[in-house]
Amino acid sequence: MTNFADLGLSQKVLSAVTDAGYTIPTPIQTGAIPPALQRRDILGIAQTGTGKTASFVLPMLTLLEKGRARARMPRTLILEPTRELAAQVAENFDKYGKNHKLNIALLIGGVSFDEQDRKLERGADVLICTPGRLLDHFERGKLLMSGVEILVIDEADRMLDMGFIPDIERIAKLIPFTRQTLFFSATMPPEIQKLADRFLQNPERVEVARPASTAQTVTQRFVAAHAKDYEKRAVLRDLIRAQDELKNAIIFCNRKKDVADLFRSLDRHGFSVGALHGDMDQRSRMTMLANFKDGNIKLLVASDVAARGLDIPDVSHVFNFDVPIHAEDYVHRIGRTGRAGRSGASFTLVTKRDTKFSDAIEKLIGQKVEWLNGDLSNLPEPMESHDTGRRERGRDGRKDRKKDGDRGSKARSDHKSDTVRADSEAEIETVVERAESVKPARSAENKQAQNNRGDRPVRASNPANDDNRDRRNRHRRDYDDGPTPVGFGDEIPAFMLIAGKA
Ligand code: AMP
Repeated sequence: MTNFADLGLSQKVLSAVTDAGYTIPTPIQTGAIPPALQRRDILGIAQTGTGKTASFVLPMLTLLEKGRARARMPRTLILEPTRELAAQVAENFDKYGKNHKLNIALLIGGVSFDEQDRKLERGADVLICTPGRLLDHFERGKLLMSGVEILVIDEADRMLDMGFIPDIERIAKLIPFTRQTLFFSATMPPEIQKLADRFLQNPERVEVARPASTAQTVTQRFVAAHAKDYEKRAVLRDLIRAQDELKNAIIFCNRKKDVADLFRSLDRHGFSVGALHGDMDQRSRMTMLANFKDGNIKLLVASDVAARGLDIPDVSHVFNFDVPIHAEDYVHRIGRTGRAGRSGASFTLVTKRDTKFSDAIEKLIGQKVEWLNGDLSNLPEPMESHDTGRRERGRDGRKDRKKDGDRGSKARSDHKSDTVRADSEAEIETVVERAESVKPARSAENKQAQNNRGDRPVRASNPANDDNRDRRNRHRRDYDDGPTPVGFGDEIPAFMLIAGKA
């Protein structure tokens, strides 16, 4: 068996690796580190969770020990598709580079230009960026790329999905041809292969997992659902509540808007929940993630972009609220659980509209996924949306606006509170703040009390607020939030409800 000491890494690096508690390199590390130290180009086909970050960080640290940075001329450049991944790589440099005095600059959106600019001015040994932000700095004339000796392109397939390839091509042209390139991708579709052929010279190919394989330790189930979001939300809640072993879960949606809607719904139903999507500012995202990692939030609703590659070691469950449109995303999502040989469970809500995507998933992973309670042909009749029924039809089936108006101020004020809450971004921020106030050192008693899966962490709260929430919840049928308000929601001005001529 290979040890870290056999790979050719410097003493400083080895000592930091030992301090991090790692003794045996993972296969991608064993395969990539020695040729990277010989300044060879690398084509690494590996998913997150395989130790791939250290497979480029450790040799880079060793190589960077010789030489020093000059102002505005970074020595190495790492491109990441998302801010979180970039921040995670920076954390890896802190951890393994603690015996080095290197300047690490993180250039990501959502952080002030000035601060980043100061780091560039001091001279960066390592520049870790999302492509857009790097080009912004470059266009402002704040940096010269002619000193870059090592270029790392991480998660190349994700870059492709996110439309970053033209940016990457532009950036690669700015960097000397003599550079060393380390290129990583979880999958190798033809476009990525072409890109690799263009960027790499005689690379060492290191492949550690069959592309598009899902871990054997993850139980996968499809769950039949009707297409309406409130139906799916009800199915999801039941599923979450039915999981005895649920420690924490990531719930994936395909769209940012759905992340916000689902987050709001689960929060209303009293689950301990946070959300992560690309439009949130950096501080909120990092805080949310930290709270999820620390267990202050049990459920994290996320989009693919935000969650790709996040290193959250022990997620017990993954729920796909939407079937991913790209089958590879399924593999990545499911890869959030069952990491490092642990067992995990995943559930994917499938509606009649989604069958072509679920078929594509089965084809990609080369296996049939079992249905939880019978497939789509066993689906009971859909629930009727109480909201829609209430607003549009009276008991005799006629349009009944007056009745709606007569529901009384109490009912209206209940709905008003929902509409006011519709500013999901602000709401997510509020939850971030709330989560920040939850101290990890909770009493054993409290922990016991919240032991029930998604239950909200017990914390000191204002009893008046709790009463209001209970009262609001009593006015809602448990199974249904109703359809997401569109436009004015229930606050439609009366004049807009006057029926038009047929
Ligand atoms: P990554 O694939 O880079 O996201 O790494 C996944 C996880 O594996 C991270 O938590 C790393 O800290 C951890 N890790 C990296 N290298 C090793 C190793 N040699 N042995 C055990 N864990 C490791």
